[in-house]
Amino acid sequence: MHALVTGGVQGIGRAIVENFRERGDQVYVFDIAPRDNERVQVLTQAGVFYAQADVSSKEQVTQGFVQLFDFQKTQYGAKPTLDILVNNAGITRDGLILRMEEGAWDQVMDVNAKGAFLCAQQALPVMVRQQVSYIINISSVVGLLGHAGQANYAASKAALIGFTKSLAQEYAKRNVLVNAIAPGLIATAMTDNVGDSVKSEVLGRIPVGRFGEPKDIANIVGFLTSGQANYITGQVLGINGGLC
Ligand code: NAD
Repeated sequence: MHALVTGGVQGIGRAIVENFRERGDQVYVFDIAPRDNERVQVLTQAGVFYAQADVSSKEQVTQGFVQLFDFQKTQYGAKPTLDILVNNAGITRDGLILRMEEGAWDQVMDVNAKGAFLCAQQALPVMVRQQVSYIINISSVVGLLGHAGQANYAASKAALIGFTKSLAQEYAKRNVLVNAIAPGLIATAMTDNVGDSVKSEVLGRIPVGRFGEPKDIANIVGFLTSGQANYITGQVLGINGGLC
């Protein structure tokens, strides 16, 4: 299958890329990391298509898709094809509400929520030509439960849930299955700088007694896009070790 992963250079996105590669998918990555980034070079040397694109920019997303489809034409002489879109790119700019700058609100909403909209809008006209295709939006447990100091992030991740459910209804008849994943706390660069006191408080609320790993999320993305889960659409899957 042909799978596009946004924010696929590191963390959860990277684990999703590896999962797809292991099963033989052709993988495409959009990320803001520059081409000469070491991790990007490892990806491209492994045959992954890479476009440096900020998902919050309509112009850059459009350009990324043009490059992707041009690549397919030269590689396979094929018409544009896309079976899977994983909207994974995401950022945090945490702060208590009264101190939060407007820019921190806008940036987080633009990358996390608008980015998924912009990518889906480009991908869907091509995806509907497939027998079945999949959009997975990486939301967060914070979009369901909220978290003090993350009003912007929580709002953006809750927006992704409404977006997922609406798109699932809009495209079910065209066999595009749209689901969201709501990870709990996963050990990546994003959570590296979460304070120790917050980490131990969260750990105390995780019944399985550990933080998640990127592959805990990648495995479920693999399952949802495996053909074994084609009766699941419009759902939010919590992957959080029982976090409550
Ligand atoms: P990460 O910071 O390790 O990786 C994020 C990736 O997205 C990076 O490669 C980064 O360069 C890329 N990116 C950032 N802004 C971008 C933009 N504007 N356009 C394109 N790419 C961009 O983070 P992660 O922990 O791997 O998070 C991946 C996703 O999972 C995010 O959406 C995040 O909100 C979500 N999530 C993470 C956790 C967690 O605990 N780590 C929990 C719940 C949800």
